[in-house]
Amino acid sequence: MTNRPLPQPDPQSAPYWAAAAGGVLTVARCARCERYTVPPDVVCPHCGSGTPNFTFTPVSGRGAVRSWTVVRQSFLPGFDADLPYVLVDVELAEQSELRLIGRLLDGPDAPLRLGAPVRVAFEHPSADIAVPAFELAS
Ligand SMILES: [Zn+2]
Repeated sequence: MTNRPLPQPDPQSAPYWAAAAGGVLTVARCARCERYTVPPDVVCPHCGSGTPNFTFTPVSGRGAVRSWTVVRQSFLPGFDADLPYVLVDVELAEQSELRLIGRLLDGPDAPLRLGAPVRVAFEHPSADIAVPAFELAS
């Protein structure tokens, strides 16, 4: 277990966290143009719709590493025990420039390179919360 701060689902994000708890990564998808957006906002950045009615839609969880950083100093309470850890900036397979940042669970010495294939994995900081992360895919 950990003393990390936990996500606090609200009515808007609840479907995302419920899917994650079931081991499924979802991304907000615009009802008008069907493009994905991270994070969802009041206006769709792709088609400009002011009523995008975003729906959290399951995605493959596969993507490619666009960049990464090794975190060696925590600026938030609760993460010290995890140091050092790697954050990866992943372009998801579903859509060009659809990017999601998450932890890489392979550790700070993982053989990372630009374009490395990754797949979603889940951390379980508490019994009912699953946080999407990534791991290297072969
Ligand atoms: Zn749209």
